[in-house]
Amino acid sequence: MDCAPTSAQRKQEPVPICPCCHLLGCWDGRRLLKRQAKLAQDGSLEWIEDFWRLRARCLTPECSMRSWTCYEVQGYPHRTFPPAVVAAAVAEFLVLGMASLALVAEHWGCSTRTLARWVGWIAGLTTVEELTEVCWLQDPSGMPPPAGRTEQVPEPPAARAAPWRSQLALVESLVALFEWLARLCRDQGVPLERGPGLGALLRHQLDRFRRVCLLIGSYPALRFYGLHPDG
Ligand SMILES: [Zn+2]
Repeated sequence: MDCAPTSAQRKQEPVPICPCCHLLGCWDGRRLLKRQAKLAQDGSLEWIEDFWRLRARCLTPECSMRSWTCYEVQGYPHRTFPPAVVAAAVAEFLVLGMASLALVAEHWGCSTRTLARWVGWIAGLTTVEELTEVCWLQDPSGMPPPAGRTEQVPEPPAARAAPWRSQLALVESLVALFEWLARLCRDQGVPLERGPGLGALLRHQLDRFRRVCLLIGSYPALRFYGLHPDG
């Protein structure tokens, strides 16, 4: 594969800044991606196809960063569906209810199994208690975060009623808290992407600290760092 950025890309892209030492880096190859989901500005699903994802490396010998991947807007490691799309799809599912599983999956271009797995992934990211505490720490006025609408959790099939009900209630609370936290951060000048709070916050942690929450496999508990404009 041709690994050098084209001259057109060099003109379009600014010189990369190392996320670790914040000094100038240089381009260091690229990778062709066939297909990637994206959340459009109007909230619909958009597919971007055949595009290059650039890599860069640090020019400071003492820096521990060496090289890194530069992700496009909403882009995320190892994900065809970035967290922004996952958050939007799950939010729609929570609103429309259990009977909408197939409909919502079709709307977002995934299988019902994938959509159900996204629900479980969000449920395992963090706890309501931890996320509530981060919101409290972030909010100087001490305003409480919004409560989840647990009484409106959709009715699941009888055989899986209990696990589904508790998991969906948890995810509904977490999604609301992610939105609240993102709003607090944006109000305070933290540079978050547009779109759902969950996606914007995960992308911020990736950009600043290279923290990644994979969909599958084990990962450390989600902890947020640097949620202030200069942090
Ligand atoms: Zn560096």
